[in-house]
Amino acid sequence: DERLSRVKGAVRGFPDFPKPGILFRDIFPILRDPSLLKDLCSLMLDHIRSKTSEVDVIVGLEARGFLFGPILAMELGCSFVPIRKAGKLPGKTEKVEYILEYGKDVFEIQEGSILKGQKVVIVDDLLATGGTMKAACELVKKVGGDIKDCLVVIELSDLKGRDKVPEGCSSLINY
Ligand code: IMP
Repeated sequence: DERLSRVKGAVRGFPDFPKPGILFRDIFPILRDPSLLKDLCSLMLDHIRSKTSEVDVIVGLEARGFLFGPILAMELGCSFVPIRKAGKLPGKTEKVEYILEYGKDVFEIQEGSILKGQKVVIVDDLLATGGTMKAACELVKKVGGDIKDCLVVIELSDLKGRDKVPEGCSSLINY
């Protein structure tokens, strides 16, 4: 797919960021060029439509899931709902705790933002160890969402993150 080669060509690798030994994949160059952003969003939309005939909610994960999520939701004519780190969302929230390399973190979603049985697709920029996506799935299920797919732009296959996501994870680019 021409769109995929163009998008893949724009992803940059930064060695030793944010820590020594980590090769950080940067998707921001895609957003600098509107034609690349269009390519990426149309690839994501094609994928979502192939997975499920109906979507009620696109859930985006803080922070880079917020870049594509609302565009996809607008195109699909459905809701966009954010999952954020603890203490960022006003009003009542549902929470899930998850383990990081060092310590713990908490994800939150606003109460009432997903109704029981609604069909949900979760989006993020990248799947590494899978801990983030796993926590997001737990939270969506906790509020009664029916997860149809988890979609990331990039998957770091060696880290086997998809094994942590029993709901199934899709990716456009693999390293
Ligand atoms: P995981 O929980 O180990 O799968 O990490 C995934 C989360 O960390 C996602 O929300 C990503 O945005 C972020 N992340 C981890 N590695 C990278 C990277 O190389 N580039 C961009 N984001 C990354």
